[in-house]
Amino acid sequence: MFSSTKQKAYFCRMKTIDQINFEGKKALVRVDFNVPLGENLEITDDTRICAALPTINKILSDGGAVILMSHLGRPKKGPEDKFSLKHIVNHLSDKLGHPVKFVNDCVGDEVISEADRLKNGDVLLLENLRFYNEEKAGDKTFAEKLSTLADIYVNDAFGTAHRAHASTAVIADFVGNNKCFGYVMANEINNLEKVVNEGERPITAIMGGAKVSSKITIINKLMDKVDKIIIGGGMSYTFVKAMGGNVGASLVENDKLDLALSLIAEAKEKGVELLIPVDSLNADAFSNDANTSVSDIDKVEDGWMGLDISDKTKSLYREAILSSKTILWNGPMGVFEMDKFAEGTKFVANAIADATAQGSFSLVGGGDSVAAVKKFNMQDKVSYVSTGGGAMLEYLEGKELPGVKAINN
Ligand code: AMP
Repeated sequence: MFSSTKQKAYFCRMKTIDQINFEGKKALVRVDFNVPLGENLEITDDTRICAALPTINKILSDGGAVILMSHLGRPKKGPEDKFSLKHIVNHLSDKLGHPVKFVNDCVGDEVISEADRLKNGDVLLLENLRFYNEEKAGDKTFAEKLSTLADIYVNDAFGTAHRAHASTAVIADFVGNNKCFGYVMANEINNLEKVVNEGERPITAIMGGAKVSSKITIINKLMDKVDKIIIGGGMSYTFVKAMGGNVGASLVENDKLDLALSLIAEAKEKGVELLIPVDSLNADAFSNDANTSVSDIDKVEDGWMGLDISDKTKSLYREAILSSKTILWNGPMGVFEMDKFAEGTKFVANAIADATAQGSFSLVGGGDSVAAVKKFNMQDKVSYVSTGGGAMLEYLEGKELPGVKAINN
């Protein structure tokens, strides 16, 4: 299970839910129920709800009671019906196979009396934490009020672990040692450690997506950890233009050309192999109905834009992926939302799946690469799909996440 003694030691140091018997106890669990809701406020993707079920079930099967707290969406000022967590009560209850009570607030007298009334085996969901500005502000009084609702605080919301909010970090100041990670948090940390500190070499990071500017910090940090960095997606064209190539109407960040050159120089200096696409699938419009052509990536004609990698790049990348023991993938290789330009991303996803089948460890994370893996139905063919987004990137950058620190300290 563990790739080394060092990693095993780290995992054992973490205080997880498995080390606590919840019999007769109330647990206040910070979950991430920030699920997407459709026009009729129906849940369109319940991944985050399903992810929290093992933690809830463990507390219930020990004989404890569960109080769930979360945020949903981005309410601006106070309660808004469309951001109410009441919309997820029925679905959560179906998934749990267990009734779920709901209270119209997350602090205050009504909440206190609902929490007091809870019996072992009960589940109570509180209203959206972000209906109070105090949540995001990391307000101490608000955090203390939350902390008094239960005996033990469980943080299971990896998606917000990079925020020092009242319910994700500050609350830990008021619970003494009665705190631990839930299974989602423990799994995320355990798997990210397999890349960050314990990756078996060669380690390859595949970085795609639209813009180099949004990935610069992570690419920089990864230079110290990985053997190869594969570049794909829109950001490739900034590198190619910086090196003097013609990129036609492709996406380019003209103010990041120097930055791209400095990344190339840094990779060389650090002995990291930086792979940039050699050919490009081009379109005469940003549309799935566009006409297409293939060219060397530095010879994209005027009026054409590169929207995917093409065959030569695909085979180079496949070779690099198959010779890696640890693979991190963040960001698509092209405009994968359009079928015509999804092939490069699909091809890379398949190469990662094949490397995984051969025994390599692969971690996919970051919104669009997760969406791509889902689109191609490959969730089970990679080692781990991180749901963390921003939290995952910050962890990989080597930052200590407030939500992690709060439990570890
Ligand atoms: P990011 O959020 O930075 O990971 O970027 C993901 C987005 O990049 C997706 O919506 C892709 O459609 C887009 N993308 C990928 N390749 C290209 C490209 N060559 N040109 C324009 N957009 C791209």
